[in-house]
Amino acid sequence: MGFCYASRHVSYKLKLLMLFTLCVLLVGWATSTYLMDAVHGTPRTKNMVGSFRKSTPLTKERKGDPKRNAMPTVKLPIAMYPCPTLSPHLRGPSKLTFKASLTLEEVQSENSQVAKGRHRPRDCSARQRVAILIPHRNREKHLLYLLEYLHPFLQRQQLDYGIYVVHQAGNFKFNRAKLLNVGYLEALKEENWDCFIFHDVDLVPENDFNIYMCGSQPKHLVVGRNSTGYRLRYQGYFGGVTALTREQFAKVNGFSNSYWGWGGEDDDLRIRVEMQKMKVIRPSPNIAKYTMIFHTRDQGNEANGQRMNLLRQVSRVWKTDGLNSCSYKLLSVEYNPLYTNITVDFGRPTKIS
Ligand code: BGC
Repeated sequence: MGFCYASRHVSYKLKLLMLFTLCVLLVGWATSTYLMDAVHGTPRTKNMVGSFRKSTPLTKERKGDPKRNAMPTVKLPIAMYPCPTLSPHLRGPSKLTFKASLTLEEVQSENSQVAKGRHRPRDCSARQRVAILIPHRNREKHLLYLLEYLHPFLQRQQLDYGIYVVHQAGNFKFNRAKLLNVGYLEALKEENWDCFIFHDVDLVPENDFNIYMCGSQPKHLVVGRNSTGYRLRYQGYFGGVTALTREQFAKVNGFSNSYWGWGGEDDDLRIRVEMQKMKVIRPSPNIAKYTMIFHTRDQGNEANGQRMNLLRQVSRVWKTDGLNSCSYKLLSVEYNPLYTNITVDFGRPTKIS
């Protein structure tokens, strides 16, 4: 009986021990499975981690923006990637020569990839869409020289650009500023240009580091020209070639329409810019250099004797004299291979009070 009790007691202890061992094994197995999952991930968590790590080739991964990082990889055509901030095709200063025998056909065949005056880079997406506006009358040869240099220059800068020549019909006094207003209004009917370059026909840029793009402030691109020993004419000079964004130009109501003949309209624009608390900026003088093609004063573009009077009125009239009051008769819009030609008639000069 004593033996029997002792053996029953031993088997009870044995059962307890076995039960305990089983429990320990069970807990051990469960813990190790959990830890394995945490380290390697189950297929579900693995997928989630995977998709968070995927980045699109367009942008860098953004921290704290899981939706963006979770986007599937999209392979874009190379031309969709933005062009570099500084084009690798720039050459720096160049000596310009103007061949007397140059023809339009020659310039066209040198630029066979340009159509309707427009071009954009093939291998990247340009940073700005830039419209070049050139007021014109009776300066065909100058226009040819400018086009010869300007097209390759703009292409080396990797711009999406269009050249517009705005031609004043008839023989009444020339109005450079009003032609530029027309260029702006007409060019915007074709494309939502980001930036406008207001460009004299007789100035050819010498250095392609003088970038034809707009900035946060209006830009004056002609610091010096051969005819002035490459010195700025005067502190407030804002003539020749300027660059304003679509918004900057709209903000000042464009140019005044009231300057007939030579001079003053560029000073007027500078006053408008300064009145809007903007500041004219310029590239460095060793870059912003131009060759001016020599010419005598054109008939119909005699100096404007009224310009000083007009300049005194800018603050009073700028809101009603400009883009919003620019009336003209559009005679034609022609698409030439190297430029779009806009011809307008302004009729007789009108005076504003
Ligand atoms: C005129 C400007 C001109 C400048 C430089 C100024 O007197 O008002 O229109 O651009 O001279 O020739």
